[in-house]
Amino acid sequence: MAQITLKNLAHSYLAAPTGDDDYALKELNHVWKDGEAYALLGPSGCGKSTLLNIISGLLVPSQGRILFGDDDVTEKSTADRNIAQVFQFPVVYDTMTVRDNLAFPLRNRGADADYVTRRVEEIAHMIDMEAELDRKARGLTADAKQKISLGRGMVREDVNAILFDEPLTVIDPHMKWELRTQLKELHNRFGHTMIYVTHDQTEALTFADKVVVMYDGRVVQMGTPEELFETPAHTFVGYFIGSPGMNLLDAKIDGATAYVDGTEIPLGASYGQPQGRVQIGIRPEFVTLSADEGVPVKVRRIEDVGRHRIIRADFFGTQINIIAHEGVSVSPEMTRVVFEPSKVNVYADDWRVEPAALGRAA
Ligand code: ADP
Ligand code: MG
Repeated sequence: MAQITLKNLAHSYLAAPTGDDDYALKELNHVWKDGEAYALLGPSGCGKSTLLNIISGLLVPSQGRILFGDDDVTEKSTADRNIAQVFQFPVVYDTMTVRDNLAFPLRNRGADADYVTRRVEEIAHMIDMEAELDRKARGLTADAKQKISLGRGMVREDVNAILFDEPLTVIDPHMKWELRTQLKELHNRFGHTMIYVTHDQTEALTFADKVVVMYDGRVVQMGTPEELFETPAHTFVGYFIGSPGMNLLDAKIDGATAYVDGTEIPLGASYGQPQGRVQIGIRPEFVTLSADEGVPVKVRRIEDVGRHRIIRADFFGTQINIIAHEGVSVSPEMTRVVFEPSKVNVYADDWRVEPAALGRAA
């Protein structure tokens, strides 16, 4: 196993790229620590598969280096990198039995027959296919085949990393949850470095210790689920993570006060006078409706979504969302909102501004 370092990496599918827009992957530097479970999260087309395929060696980057530990593997083949990869759609040998499919990566590396038998049984148990071991893969359903692909990805214990590219897309919802739990357990037991690509925030947040968020060919933030929730580094992270996402309001900032349409909103820290397009961001969880405190708001609609209610309101011409937790009453005389000052983030040109000092002294 090894730490994976990406140095000044960038990739364009064009032969002669000119500007930033020609790059599927903009220049990035990134370290994947040995033994961690990462989710690589972002919308379709943002460059997740491109990045994964560069790490596995399926794709040679137009620029930059890839290191496994101290070893430069940029020019090395996938086989030489000793990596397992599981794709979105099943890759199985139809004419082989399930057992032979699972054993293939081990036999291919000359593993001992007893070990192969034992290991295949273990993996079959994990993917719940012990009963089908001696059936041919042909004729199995798409999700059974995908489970075989997952099993093949996990069967070798000596790989440097296991890469998963949206592997549960074709799996039914219940099995999805089960397999994700299994993958996590496998990670806890064997400690492989894992990178799990998904566009689904729930999948990312439940699988990984660290989530790497990509947007438009860039890594915009790496953090724990809590960090992504509390302090999104980019407005995209605020919007993409959470349900509904973070409220963003154009504002002017002077020290520890934000002005939205001239109305004062206290901040939990001092931010100086950031320039560019300045916005404040606050999650719906940290906005509360009030009858007597805060800033005026027009409630448009209240949606009961089970565990809590989502209130859609008009705040100086911008729609904001407020979450009212169970047991919190909402009444028509509540025509004001309070933003919890310590939970307000400040953004300049979409990037989070670090507070200069704690407390309200500017
Ligand atoms: P994701 O996996 O996040 O959906 P991809 O890495 O597949 O994103 O794609 C990133 C960008 O690169 C997209 O704009 C996509 O259209 C483009 N792209 C992906 N593969 C190729 C390819 N083989 N040739 C040309 N462009 C590609
Ligand atoms: Mg993809």
